Amino acid sequence: MSLPPLTRRRWRNWAGNQRTAGELARPRTVAELAALLRYAGAAGRQVTVVGSGHSFTSIARGADIQIALSGMAGAITRGPTPRTVRVPAGTTLRQLNRWLAAHQLALPNLGDIDAQTVGGAIATGTHGTGARFGGLASQVVELTLVGADGEVRRCSATEQPDLFAAATVGLGALGVVTEVTLRCVAAFVLHADERPVPLAQTLAEFDEYCADNEHVEFYWLPYTEATLVKRNNRAATDSRPMTRLRAWWENDVLQNVALGGVCKAGRAVPAAAPALARLMARAFTPVSYTNRSDRIFTTPRRVRFVELEYALPRAALPAAFAELRRIVARSPQRVLLPVEVRVGAGDDSWLSPAYQRNCAYLAIHQYVGAPYQGYFQAVERACAGLDGRPHWGKLHWRDAESLATAYPRFADFLAVRDRLDPGRVFGNPYLARVLGP
Ligand SMILES: Cc1cc2nc3c(=O)[nH]c(=O)nc-3n(C[C@H](O)[C@H](O)[C@H](O)COP(=O)(O)OP(=O)(O)OC[C@H]3O[C@@H](n4cnc5c(N)ncnc54)[C@H](O)[C@@H]3O)c2cc1C
Repeated sequence: MSLPPLTRRRWRNWAGNQRTAGELARPRTVAELAALLRYAGAAGRQVTVVGSGHSFTSIARGADIQIALSGMAGAITRGPTPRTVRVPAGTTLRQLNRWLAAHQLALPNLGDIDAQTVGGAIATGTHGTGARFGGLASQVVELTLVGADGEVRRCSATEQPDLFAAATVGLGALGVVTEVTLRCVAAFVLHADERPVPLAQTLAEFDEYCADNEHVEFYWLPYTEATLVKRNNRAATDSRPMTRLRAWWENDVLQNVALGGVCKAGRAVPAAAPALARLMARAFTPVSYTNRSDRIFTTPRRVRFVELEYALPRAALPAAFAELRRIVARSPQRVLLPVEVRVGAGDDSWLSPAYQRNCAYLAIHQYVGAPYQGYFQAVERACAGLDGRPHWGKLHWRDAESLATAYPRFADFLAVRDRLDPGRVFGNPYLARVLGP
């Protein structure tokens, strides 16, 4: 079988903080993909699958050859049981959501955006919010993986369960996921309720919010006492759609144009960050509306930023947040973007940051081009000290030695990696740091 052509190209991730000018292969069939992997193994070359490039870490940059699955984008089809769907892994969440809506189905929960590929989102443990909802990987019922030896392997909770527990949040380290079967739910409408709440009240009542609502998150503006609490709950009908004008104002003007302007000003004059945050707090106004679930969960993000996110045991959130506030107050690096707090249910993927524990997710952001390292690293130290686990796709500085103590099944994951990819065809500098050589 012939190899797919290898073309040279410049690549950068969404945030622009990861770049490379390596080779790209775009196989069109599983046979071409298998041939490429066998070639890489024999030639001592390394490959990394790249999705939509929405990770902030170098996880998708790879070392040598990037593989894009866009050439293998087959059709989404119904799965073996009701409300399951088979999805080519290179499909974006946006494409999947459209298909699901047309078939009266939906994913039960989603993160903030829909630009990621299904394969990429699952590989890093991408999640939304909701105390009773796991991340996207917890919706996987079966996946198909092409290993370094070019062999196709299918796994599920009952077929090769160890491979399944490892490969659902697989970091791209075990093989190329070509197809995923996902558990869906009947299409639903969400009612979104967003309102400003003083920080002290949000912190005091957050557990209650999480217990009483299906999906809850809050944004805190550093240097202020302002939070915006977002609650999304299932509604019987789409009876309160947002007008086009209001949607344009909220999603385009406030969340993108105005936010971008404020960030640019703060980057140019960092000392103005607290005053700019107080100005932004005025844009926190109550809104209440309904829409198709994926349209409520996700919003366009045009202001570019870098991000660090930690999954903490739920009970550790107050301590982590208190330390975060001290860090923000002390840090010479002025923070230009809000802090986001979400929650999620525990799951069973060995390297999922939510592995077997309910979590609070603490995410911090900085506008591109503004200094962030000291701030991010101080928050990382605080979160790591509270038994936190970093998001694999978001900036962090942890290495294999420290991560081994954070994940009870870390050694089992490494054993699967050794079995499937002894020659490290899927190796790259990021994986060498977080998993070891
Ligand atoms: C604006 C923005 C908003 C975000 N919002 C959220 C959020 O709400 N919640 C959240 O949890 N995360 C969020 N993220 C992070 C994002 O979801 C993850 O980084 C995700 O992995 C990106 O998917 P991707 O398709 O771009 O994958 P890439 O970043 O291209 O790749 C990520 C990893 O997946 C691997 N991979 C990709 N496809 C395959 C495959 N088919 N088989 C094997 N491995 C594969 C790659 O090798 C790499 O290791 C956000 C990121 C951005 C930029």
